[in-house]
Amino acid sequence: ETTYDLIIVGGGPIGLACAIEAEKKKLNYLIIEKGAIVNSIFNYPLYMTFFSTAERLEIGEIPFNCLAPKPGRQEALEYYRNIHRYFKFNINLFEKVLNVQKENEIFAIKTDKQNYKSKNVVIATGFYDIPIEMNVLGESLPKVRHYYKEAHEYAFRKVLVVGANNSSVDAALECWRKGAEVTMVIRKNEINSRVKYWVKPDIENRIEEGSIKAYFQSNITEIRENEVEIETPEGKITVENDFVLALTGYKPDLNFLKEMGIQLSDDELKIPVYNPATMETNVKGLFLAGVVCGGMQTHKWFIENSRIHANMIVDYITSK
Ligand code: FAD
Repeated sequence: ETTYDLIIVGGGPIGLACAIEAEKKKLNYLIIEKGAIVNSIFNYPLYMTFFSTAERLEIGEIPFNCLAPKPGRQEALEYYRNIHRYFKFNINLFEKVLNVQKENEIFAIKTDKQNYKSKNVVIATGFYDIPIEMNVLGESLPKVRHYYKEAHEYAFRKVLVVGANNSSVDAALECWRKGAEVTMVIRKNEINSRVKYWVKPDIENRIEEGSIKAYFQSNITEIRENEVEIETPEGKITVENDFVLALTGYKPDLNFLKEMGIQLSDDELKIPVYNPATMETNVKGLFLAGVVCGGMQTHKWFIENSRIHANMIVDYITSK
């Protein structure tokens, strides 16, 4: 049975960046990805535009060709597929890692298909697989969605969009432009300052002119088949409703991290413990890379500031 030098859990941009570094240093590595290659980006809204310019999404110093300053989902999928065509990664797709345990200085990696052994493991599993729930009555109705793909299905329907981040704002504007009657329910009293700078005035103007109705400092309290109850500063109201897009954020699989022995901070941020110089966790030989490092702070890391984790980890492993 092979004992790998490095197993990388997650085939997102940062998992791939780790594999590029491992190739360069001639490590015997394997990427295990539970879905398609760059599965999170595959699951983005179909017409999403990145907030990053193309060169900031590059890995392995391979140029990202893009005519517009900022690429969309499709171009990014094209780019990362081409990365694989070029590097021909050792990667297993549609295989989910269930557990990682250290036994006598070697990691035992259990997937839904088989078991592996490796001297080192990188967890690059991102945060896009678990939506943060609102915990309100009716949330499990099929008309409530935590992922938004495209507007067509919502055209000529009454759509309630929860949240005021990039995902919510993009969805609200797209649905409104395709003929939906859009209402936003926003916990704070403004659109989030992180909303893409070219999109923010668009949503603010649509709200201001009344094209999109927005309830600020408000929360959904119950969702029913044809209506939704909202707690507003003026009291409780009931609005007619066909669909709820609850784009209230996502979080990393914290239990998955805990089960492999990684400690998390005691506060609500649940930041995993790692050495910022090497990305090694409190478990020796077990590393974190990419956006999973932020715990509940999912806005701290993105591609341009976390692709460097790949070099840090592989340099450290090969210097040991
Ligand atoms: P991911 O891309 O999330 O990759 C993690 C991978 O791990 C996934 O493919 C997942 O399927 C796999 N995985 C998870 N669990 C397991 C398991 N148990 N076994 C096997 N595989 C597993 N960042 C930017 O830099 N610029 C942007 O413009 C930008 N826009 C964004 C827009 C949206 C809508 C969202 C949600 C995020 C955006 N981000 C952006 C953040 C972006 O998603 C990340 O920067 C990037 O995808 C992080 O890469 P990653 O490899 O760390 O994680």
